[in-house]
Amino acid sequence: MTETDRRVAVFETQLKGAGLRMTQQRRLILRVLAEADDHPDAKGIFTRAFALDPTLSLSTVYRTMKVLESQGAIERHAFEDGVSRYEHAGQEHHDHLIDVDSGEVIEFSSDAIEELQRRIAAELGYELVRHRLELYGRKKQPARKNGRKSG
Ligand SMILES: [Zn+2]
Repeated sequence: MTETDRRVAVFETQLKGAGLRMTQQRRLILRVLAEADDHPDAKGIFTRAFALDPTLSLSTVYRTMKVLESQGAIERHAFEDGVSRYEHAGQEHHDHLIDVDSGEVIEFSSDAIEELQRRIAAELGYELVRHRLELYGRKKQPARKNGRKSG
């Protein structure tokens, strides 16, 4: 069983747990989601699934995403552009850096940041339950060599 198959199986269990019937189209959406290693929005998921089944509607995608989110199967991110993006839950914790020019979402994790956040919460008298951290950045241009022509 591949990692994708395993994820699809988990999604199916969660949809059935929510009382949803498993249809071919829902299964297709689950597969597209399970295969996504980026952070697609509902339209992006729709586009990928629609390529495989042109009878699919965007509202079916929205509805399926909503159920999956309420079941904790996928995580929704609302980055600054206001578009909801999704990724499957149950991954190792990570934070996101968003490229403000391309919109690309880059994942990272830092033990130092995790520790710092725990410490800040503790100092304020709290035990940290969860957090979200988004960094917005622009790719640095490679440094120019002073006055020298490259050649
Ligand atoms: Zn992520």
